[in-house]
Amino acid sequence: MGNVANDVGDVFGAHRVLEPPGALPQAAWRVDNDLLRVFESELLIDVETLNVDAASFRQMEEATAAEGPEGVVRLVRETVSTRGKQHNPVTGSGGMLLGRVARIGSARSGDVATVGDRIATLVSLSLTPLRIDSIGAVRAASAQLDVTGQAVLFATGLYAVLPTDMPERLALAALDVAGAAPQVARICQKGDAVLVLGAGGKSGVICAVEARSRVGASGLVIGVESHAPYAEDLRALGVCDAVIGGDARDPLAVRAAVLAATGGREVDRAISCVNVEGAELAAILCTRDRGTIYFFSMTTSFTGAALGAEGVGKDVDMLVGNGFAHGHAEHTLALLRRETAVRALFENRYG
Ligand code: NAP
Repeated sequence: MGNVANDVGDVFGAHRVLEPPGALPQAAWRVDNDLLRVFESELLIDVETLNVDAASFRQMEEATAAEGPEGVVRLVRETVSTRGKQHNPVTGSGGMLLGRVARIGSARSGDVATVGDRIATLVSLSLTPLRIDSIGAVRAASAQLDVTGQAVLFATGLYAVLPTDMPERLALAALDVAGAAPQVARICQKGDAVLVLGAGGKSGVICAVEARSRVGASGLVIGVESHAPYAEDLRALGVCDAVIGGDARDPLAVRAAVLAATGGREVDRAISCVNVEGAELAAILCTRDRGTIYFFSMTTSFTGAALGAEGVGKDVDMLVGNGFAHGHAEHTLALLRRETAVRALFENRYG
């Protein structure tokens, strides 16, 4: 396994930051991914699968379209060798990984896993020191790559032991977006009208299902999805009052279609789950005065949202999609167990 450093290391992982000085690992340009040398506060993982963030995977696919799947493999290799982590320099996002616990540092406490357990990390690859030895299959539909290599989690790095009652790839896909459902549960109330952009994708379906259960029969759930097969999947689930096959980057068209679906009512809550840039205004234009917008999407622009809302005179509360909420992994896995049709859809797509 290599050497154990004579050191505990920093709980936030500052001991792995190479540049710039003073940064924490997520903000760092480069982290130390020499995992032959580990620290006593670290959890060492033998990595099996990378679940790349949807916005990142799509950006890499588009940037290397001429090369096919090999293009994504090349960019992942380049990023990890340059930065010591899978931190897409264009989108700024990462993803998470699946692997087996190889070593638990002696300065750690409270670990729920033991050596040999299979776990999914619940902190971003954009801050996780990673060494890749080889890359095998690439599954574009789920943005997953089979790899061999190693990674470490810091003392503050969250993870979940993989459940035994569902396929691992399914669990990994759901855990990637685990922060979404609990936050939707917090902001949606009975009777609310809720708009979900990118509603046919992974987080979009989960948000639509969570919203439906919160707003009840007196509320409205409207989905917008540009990918026709995913829009059809969402219709078949029967959780939305309307599924609009549209482009969330076209704010006026989305607003017109949403108002047509709600009978002229602006929504109380809008949730953005798209994997492309430029959807801020569609969410803003559809949301009522003092309503709430939850930008789960990593493609969200702070300036686009802040100046866009100001520019159209919308006094709305806008939430950044924190990837973490207390109990988020359990919440999301419970949703999949309860909603058997969603589980079947996800097994088909990602399992
Ligand atoms: P996903 O499964 O790819 O879903 C995105 C959906 O949006 C897809 O169905 C996509 O269609 C659709 N879409 C793309 N462009 C659109 C447009 N112009 N109008 C309407 N729909 C459009 O992605 P995901 O895994 O759910 O992730 C969604 C977003 O959340 C990404 O930005 C990701 O980076 C972010 N994310 C955030 C966190 C967090 O902690 N906040 C964690 C994980 C992921 P196509 O199939 O055609 O692309």
